[in-house]
Amino acid sequence: MRGFPAALVLLVLAPCAHGAGTAQSLVATTAEEQGLWQRVAEEQAALDRSGFVLEEPELEDYLQAVVARLATADGLAEDDFSVKLVRDPTLNAFAYPNGRLYIHTGLLARMLNEAQLASVLAHEMTHATHKHALKSQRSLKTKTGILQAISLSAPVAGDFSPLIDLLGVYGTAAAVSGYSKGLETEADEVGWQRMRKCGYDTGEAPVVFRVLMADLSEHARKEPFFFGTHPKLADREKNFARLNAADKKHTGGEKGEERFAQATRRVLLINGELEMRAGRHDAARDQLWRYRVADPSSVRVRWLIGENERVAGAQGDPAEARKLLEEALAMDETFAPAHRSLGILLYRAGELAAAAPHLRRFLDLDRTAHDRAYIEAYLEKCEPTPPPAPPAPAS
Ligand SMILES: [Zn+2]
Repeated sequence: MRGFPAALVLLVLAPCAHGAGTAQSLVATTAEEQGLWQRVAEEQAALDRSGFVLEEPELEDYLQAVVARLATADGLAEDDFSVKLVRDPTLNAFAYPNGRLYIHTGLLARMLNEAQLASVLAHEMTHATHKHALKSQRSLKTKTGILQAISLSAPVAGDFSPLIDLLGVYGTAAAVSGYSKGLETEADEVGWQRMRKCGYDTGEAPVVFRVLMADLSEHARKEPFFFGTHPKLADREKNFARLNAADKKHTGGEKGEERFAQATRRVLLINGELEMRAGRHDAARDQLWRYRVADPSSVRVRWLIGENERVAGAQGDPAEARKLLEEALAMDETFAPAHRSLGILLYRAGELAAAAPHLRRFLDLDRTAHDRAYIEAYLEKCEPTPPPAPPAPAS
């Protein structure tokens, strides 16, 4: 394990009995399946190179430990599975047939404990172990077919096309349309069993889907991905609630709340910024404040909360923005982005003399600023060059 505190990883793994005997491996057995694995490996390599995959070794180790716990409890080889984080604020997780799982930062940022995370990962692992991609291969729509179906059913808010463009046929099927209702139900049922074998609180499985549905409804959000569509979430919630109702003997289980909060804290900061940049200011506000409570000495989170209030327009609070940006600079006068934000805020408020030193300081601190020309244009209006002195009278 890389940087993840070993004690935390042990805590994730400890309560789980390892499956007896030799672990069952995930392998492509037929020529058809081998061909499928080869095609998905190409799709996956393109996604991994795209810049959408987040490099956060400690966080990846934590996710990997949860997957390993679910795998070993069911006699599966833990090395067959790997988890990557996708830098995207939408709600989604998906699996490739070779055991590679992806989870969006947007989904992780809305979860409250490890049992909820386990319910989603266990569902995704089942798509791989039960060969759902192979079983669906012949009935799979083309990528264009899938995208036409979603664009007809729901206008999608925000521009998520760069990520969808990257996904190939199998990625789009796994991430956007999902599989048939029967296979999705199987993924819920087997996933639920795996979660239960590990001693997780299965009561949290329907809860996570209720949280996601409430989030989508509250903000009237439409998203293109599988876990971002209300009917798909309602199916998961119903399946998990049914399984729990039939499980008379089982009470409670482990939630892993604190461990989850500690391990995934940085996701709130990273995803909060993504929400802000996608114009989802309410979600950004919520996640960034949750991060700030956990890490009150962070200058970056103060800047981000202030910046979010600044760029939110009519939904924002400029007075709050100003206060937070000033606080960020009081903590660290060399934090360039806060000078930029405060300078622009003051400029737009007509306080040109107050704006100028912040804009100037930003340009001094960030020599390679991508928007240098834009800031210089603002600065020129704040510090107009004095008119040239009249020529001296000829003597
Ligand atoms: Zn699924």
